Amino acid sequence: MSPPANIVIVGAGIIGCTTAYYLAHHPLFSSAVKITVLEASRVGPAQGASGKSGGLIAKWAYPKELAKLSYAEHLRLAKELDGAKNWGFRQIEVGEWEGRGRRPGDLRLDESDLRLDESESSDDEECPRRSKASGFPADLTWINEALTDSYTPMAPSGDTAQVHPYLFTTHMLKLAAEKGVEFVKGRVTVLDNDSGHVTGVRYIPVDGTEEVHIPADCIILAAGPWSPSLVPALPITSMRAHSIVIKSPSSLHPNAVTPYALFMSLSLPKTPRHGAQMVTPEIYPRPNQTIYVYGPGDTRTPLPPIVDDVEVDKASCEQLWEWMSESGVFERWALGEVVREQACYLPSVSTGGGPIVGEVPGIKGLVVATGHTSWVRLFNSPVALLFTRFPHLDIAIHQGISNAPGTAKAVSELVLEGKTSCVKLDRPHPAEFV
Ligand SMILES: Cc1cc2nc3c(=O)[nH]c(=O)nc-3n(C[C@H](O)[C@H](O)[C@H](O)COP(=O)(O)OP(=O)(O)OC[C@H]3O[C@@H](n4cnc5c(N)ncnc54)[C@H](O)[C@@H]3O)c2cc1C
Repeated sequence: MSPPANIVIVGAGIIGCTTAYYLAHHPLFSSAVKITVLEASRVGPAQGASGKSGGLIAKWAYPKELAKLSYAEHLRLAKELDGAKNWGFRQIEVGEWEGRGRRPGDLRLDESDLRLDESESSDDEECPRRSKASGFPADLTWINEALTDSYTPMAPSGDTAQVHPYLFTTHMLKLAAEKGVEFVKGRVTVLDNDSGHVTGVRYIPVDGTEEVHIPADCIILAAGPWSPSLVPALPITSMRAHSIVIKSPSSLHPNAVTPYALFMSLSLPKTPRHGAQMVTPEIYPRPNQTIYVYGPGDTRTPLPPIVDDVEVDKASCEQLWEWMSESGVFERWALGEVVREQACYLPSVSTGGGPIVGEVPGIKGLVVATGHTSWVRLFNSPVALLFTRFPHLDIAIHQGISNAPGTAKAVSELVLEGKTSCVKLDRPHPAEFV
């Protein structure tokens, strides 16, 4: 099989940009192969979840085989391309944290008041609340241990890392461009095919109104949550999530906020204005002296046609900041000011599983690489069951940043060699839906 002559990648999120990188660095790539990445945003690449997500990467993510390959590729890329400097790569500890905090304006400033009485603490006599959390890491100094009920490591040291997802994605595109990949700003409107073969795409340039056609004998659909607008049979829904980025005070030592990613279950007490509530922010300190925090998803605002039109609900971002700055759980010395308030949409495969990667049957040359959804980890380890107040808790862990290199490697093999050999990618396959 000879490689395609014109490859068009739809979408410059992490999947599209990393795929462009792997294609352009594949041994069968040559100047006879033209690769174009088309992106609908007027601003540039990585304006959706790929630029605004947490950036956790995990050997223990799902699907297992893809996650293992992707983790190994993340380590390799970071080593060969100075990921620490170029995209904030580093290894990080990860844990599930449970505890209590105060509400903004709550007058019970004494931490001992926030420690509930024994009567409130547990229905299980075997599992009384402790004032000191067992297993609390000695170097997790930016979290208030007195308000912690439990800390449970989620993975062995060395199995989890992080990247700055915007920097990683844009760096992949930059390295692909150095090998000749062309980046074009325009919204793809139609994927053309004839007699069972793709023939090209039509798009509207960001600064034009006339549709432009470019020929293609291979199209890679990597449009994240927007993918069904081009292939409607794909079972992909989307959910908005808000996040903030907090800058630590510049006077702090660069390593003062130690590298722990925390999946939190934070109980907030009842006040005259609010009922008791358990909130579940996720916290990722980054090596550039910022702390990324993201909160629960919402379906109040449907996915807009273009990433640039994603609405940010200021109140959702302010709430995240209140949980951080006023709950008492976070040491105030670690927190400076909010430097970014943002929202993005996570693609979800509504039939379960994900991602959906493979060639669409009946349309030669149309490859789908999307649906990097969340997977749910049940909080049910024996240690957790012994110490946690919420042994039933499910934690949704996202995977697009983690699994991008494995996906991209698999797609580059499929497109240039005709089959994928680096990983088994059989379910869910586009054939199940299209
Ligand atoms: C709050 C949050 C936190 C997350 N944290 C993590 C994490 O810590 N670790 C992890 O592994 N995953 C995480 N994820 C998931 C991860 O961010 C996504 O799975 C991943 O970014 C999806 O990448 P993508 O390239 O498929 O989609 P996107 O990033 O959405 O990119 C799709 C691109 O396609 C473009 N596009 C759409 N339609 C068209 C069109 N018609 N023509 C041209 N271009 C088009 C869009 O403009 C966009 O740029 C998180 C997600 C969210 C929402």
